[in-house]
Amino acid sequence: QKVDSTTNSRDGGGYKGHDMLAPFTAGWQSTDLHPLVVEKSEGIYVYDINGKKYLDSLAGLWCTALGGNEQKLVAAATTQLNKLPFYHSFWNRTTKPSLDLAKELLETFTAAKMAKAFFTNSGSEANDSQVKLVWYYNNALGRPDKKKIIARAKSYHGSTLISASLSGLPALHQKFDLPAPFVLHTDCPHYWRYHLPGETEEEFSTRLANSLESLILKEGPETIAAFIAEPVMGAGGVIPPPATYFEKVQAVVKKYDILFIADEVICAFGRLGTMFGCDKYNIKPDLVSVAKALSSAYMPIGAIMMSPEVSDVIHFQSNKLGTFSHGFTNSGHPVPCAVAIEALKIYKEGNIPEQVKQVAPKFQDGLKAFSNSPIIGEIRGTGLILGTEFTDNKSPNDPFPPEWGIGAYFGAQCEKHGMLVRVAGDNIMMSPPLIITPEEIDELISIYGKALEATE
Ligand code: PLP
Repeated sequence: QKVDSTTNSRDGGGYKGHDMLAPFTAGWQSTDLHPLVVEKSEGIYVYDINGKKYLDSLAGLWCTALGGNEQKLVAAATTQLNKLPFYHSFWNRTTKPSLDLAKELLETFTAAKMAKAFFTNSGSEANDSQVKLVWYYNNALGRPDKKKIIARAKSYHGSTLISASLSGLPALHQKFDLPAPFVLHTDCPHYWRYHLPGETEEEFSTRLANSLESLILKEGPETIAAFIAEPVMGAGGVIPPPATYFEKVQAVVKKYDILFIADEVICAFGRLGTMFGCDKYNIKPDLVSVAKALSSAYMPIGAIMMSPEVSDVIHFQSNKLGTFSHGFTNSGHPVPCAVAIEALKIYKEGNIPEQVKQVAPKFQDGLKAFSNSPIIGEIRGTGLILGTEFTDNKSPNDPFPPEWGIGAYFGAQCEKHGMLVRVAGDNIMMSPPLIITPEEIDELISIYGKALEATE
């Protein structure tokens, strides 16, 4: 059954055919369908304009880690707004919240030593800034040809020109003349979909690391500047790495003096049951991107962190290269920084990663119990992030006809029963707020079960 305007049961409160060009929305959807207009939040729930309550199983867009009404974050924002609503951080003028957050953030990341933080407004800007920083770094070192960036098929790194180029999702490239020519894509590490008959996870990881090395050698190591990876791929369908994957790809990039950028925009601050995704998979990056849960999304903010090696080059070569002429009006904006300082305090003092570790088995096992459904190909995830992929015959090679709209139908059923999920074709993604309780996980599983039964 195709999901179109006739099966859309929302009442958009008079906003059908609205005036906004909505992100990641087809033109016909915003014209013909009622939008879901969200008006209020409370813990892990949101309410629409008509008062209907939904369990927000995606935490907004994988970001409201502390749920909808954490008063400490509200207070941090209000206090800062009253004291100093804005000052910038250009030309070595700055504010206390931005300096304090930089210090806190660097101390929080312990998988590898990080020496400096740079602030952005979003994850996309963080990844764009990474590429500019890496180019500046190689120019400072007198290596003007070392500029290409390797990303992975199915990755998501944002939607600005550079970050969309890094992303390995065709929808982000088609009709936008992307990716940019300096971006190369290597294999997606999705074992279920891409392993060869009889190949173990370890063997699969070895093959992918070899394939990465072949790409580097084909292009010339002297032309490759960086490799970027999400610890667990998010928007590409929730894909945790296969066993030994990061160990092997890290060895390859290190061998050719290629910087490792960890895109922690989804994984950071407890999502996987560790403070960072790098902690979970023993990744020792040179550069790290964060955003989203950094402020629990109460205010827009992103950041990059860089190793002492990168930071030193920029410091010592600045006479040669001049000013690092990159930054945004709102880089280090005091209000989001004040909120993020408070959020980091809650993650640490409330031991949120440990709390996630405690509830994750209930979430993972409860949902993976639906794996034997005839329309489910794979359910995968770790910590509080999980993806469901609908396929026929339990096979990655037997997708349902896209016009059946299985994923969209399942998503609409969840919505009908009071839960919001992320739908991307026949992939369903969930990453609830990290404060979710065992009882709320029961409710989430129960709604998932009802929606699945209706879809089967
Ligand atoms: N990187 C990853 C891993 C993401 O999941 C996202 C957003 O979903 C981004 C970067 C882009 O972040 P933003 O939407 O804040 O620009």
